[in-house]
Amino acid sequence: MKKIVFAFFCMALLLTGCADTADKADDGRLTVCTSFYALYDFADKVGGERADVINLVPAGSEPHDWEPSSHDMLRVSKADILFYNGLGMESWIDSVKSSAGGKTKYVCLSDGLCEDGASDPHIWLDPNTAIEMVNKIEAEMSAEDSKNADYYKQNAQELISEMRELDKAYAEAFADKEGFGIVVSHEAYGSLCSRYNIEQRALEGIIPQSEPSPEQMKKIIDYINDNNIDCIFYEKLLSKKTVNTVAEETGAELLELDPFEGLTQADIDAGEDYISVMYKNLENLKKAAE
Ligand SMILES: [Zn+2]
Repeated sequence: MKKIVFAFFCMALLLTGCADTADKADDGRLTVCTSFYALYDFADKVGGERADVINLVPAGSEPHDWEPSSHDMLRVSKADILFYNGLGMESWIDSVKSSAGGKTKYVCLSDGLCEDGASDPHIWLDPNTAIEMVNKIEAEMSAEDSKNADYYKQNAQELISEMRELDKAYAEAFADKEGFGIVVSHEAYGSLCSRYNIEQRALEGIIPQSEPSPEQMKKIIDYINDNNIDCIFYEKLLSKKTVNTVAEETGAELLELDPFEGLTQADIDAGEDYISVMYKNLENLKKAAE
């Protein structure tokens, strides 16, 4: 009897394709890989229940420094499409393209969406550009999986209408704040700021990645005092210790701004997505503009 059960088990494994079922559906479903969380969120919303979307960068990791493992290469090689941002966001893309193998289609989402020579890769932070990215994702997924094209289109339209509302909320919030400036830790908000006439100044280089020396600390504090900066936008991944000390010494208020490159597992479990994070960012930007 045991032998029969075992034989059935083996057959079931063969039929379902035992290895890596989470990585590649073998029931004809579209499989899509994305290079970091913003793209994952867009592709997952478009794909809904009919596509398997895999984010390569694990929750809580910083995508700028991430490198794919051989397991990730395998996941890419089994996917129908890999969506990536371009503009230097994925330093590993050329080596994956040349060595992953498979029939994967590589789609660079920033192609045709920014001016030549653009250097800030964080283009999804402008909701208008995010809409273009969602349109591209929808078109590529529909081309690969035409039987679900109407479904993908419907999902994309729902997300795009939320993005249009978001754009309206930002445009209204800053319409009469001409020249309003923000101080950020990581220079990631060029697209967002130029869309809504906000000036971005970055402390990058002034606030180092590691704990600053007393001389560096003095430089940061002098910079904030000399420039009459009354609030600083920080990111979760930056050392809170340094910004807390700076805030205490200068009286500057600390506000969070999220570039939506990666979410922690807790954020994912709480259902955070592009729309919810961008509204939180808007609330904090409005506080700074008061
Ligand atoms: Zn970044």
